[in-house]
Parts: sequence; structure tokens; C-alpha cells
Amino acid sequence: MKQLVLASHNKGKLAEFRDMLGGLVEEIRSAADYHLPEPAETGTTFVENALIKSHAAMQATKLPALADDSGLSVDALSGSPGVYSADWAGIPRDFDRAMKKLHDALSGNVNGQKARFISVLTLSRPDRDDEVFEGVCEGTLVWPPRGAGGFGYDPMFVPDGHKITFSEMTEEKKNTLSHRAKAVEQLTAFLANDIVVG
Ligand code: IMP
Repeated sequence: MKQLVLASHNKGKLAEFRDMLGGLVEEIRSAADYHLPEPAETGTTFVENALIKSHAAMQATKLPALADDSGLSVDALSGSPGVYSADWAGIPRDFDRAMKKLHDALSGNVNGQKARFISVLTLSRPDRDDEVFEGVCEGTLVWPPRGAGGFGYDPMFVPDGHKITFSEMTEEKKNTLSHRAKAVEQLTAFLANDIVVG
């Protein structure tokens, strides 16, 4: 693929995607590079929100566009905070506050609660069907939060098969098993097999 627009204004995500897709896409630019407005994420699912972003970027630039949407889903809370994971941290974003809110929503009964991180990537291309890639990382919650690395709810999340939180792992380790890594794996497999030049 020659060109791809990443439907995000987040410089960190742009750097991550450039790194992961560099060998498969010649030029990756962000929505900010094209001065695109950020569309309201009015969907009630990760797929709906990712498609809102990838459609908006594709329609504005007429180029293939990639969007991502992700969050934490807790079984005992019927999937919350889910698509509202970022919103739980308020503005300005404060994930200590978001983690405390999660603790309180579970009435302090945090340890051992089943949860999963979900990452959805959508690829929208002019005159082609949308492609959806989903990665899931199952795990359990801990309280108090542990570790200094990562971001968001990482200090509360222990992935299945491990004893330490995402925050206590190296970034490299997290990136071998995270929800985002699994979604990106599917996307790269698709791009590697896709013969259509964008
Ligand atoms: P978005 O993907 O930018 O919409 O962010 C969704 C929100 O989900 C983030 O702000 C975090 O609260 C949470 N989240 C998504 N992925 C992770 C992760 O890998 N670790 C911790 N929190 C995450």
C-alpha cells in the first residue's frame, strides 16, 4: 500500500503505527497532518466509533484510512467502562481518578474480577468494503494499582498467564500480548496479502 491516513490526532499512536506498519505502507500521515477535525465518537461500540473515524478521514482525503478504538471491559460491570474508558478519566485526563472510579463501581471488590482489553482497527478505502480487525487480551483486575509503566488502566490489569500488571511489564513485553498487538497482527497479515494498491 502506498499511502495511509491514520484517523487520529494522537502523535504517540502515529509513531506506534509508523513503527508497526512501516514495512507495508510507504507513507503514513495523520488526520492532524491534513488538518481534519476530530469527529464526535457517538457510537455505542468500538467498531462503530472506529468506523466513524476511518470513514471521516477517508471521505476527506480520498485515501485509505485506518482508525482504532479501544477500552477496558469488566464482566461484573456488564462491559463498562467499555467505549467510555477514556471518558471515565475526565478532562483533563486523570487515570488515577478513572481507576478509583472503577474501584468504587465494584464497591472495592476489585481483586480477581474478570476483565478484558479490546482493540478494534478499521480500514476504510475508497470504493472498497470496510475491513475490521479486533484484538482481545483477557485478564483480571488488582487493587491497589501496581507499576509505573504504560498508561490508562494498565496498573490494575494482570493479563491471563501472568502475575504482574501491564504497568509492571516492559513496553516490549506488553506489546507482544496486548489487545492492540493482536489487532495489528491481523491488520499486517491482511496488508501483506492484499494486492490492491491504495
Ligand atoms: P482510545 O483507544 O484512544 O479511544 O482510548 C481508549 C481508552 O481505553 C484509553 O484512554 C484507556 O483508558 C483505555 N485503554 C485502551 N488501551 C489501553 C491499554 O493498553 N492500557 C490501558 N488502558 C487502555
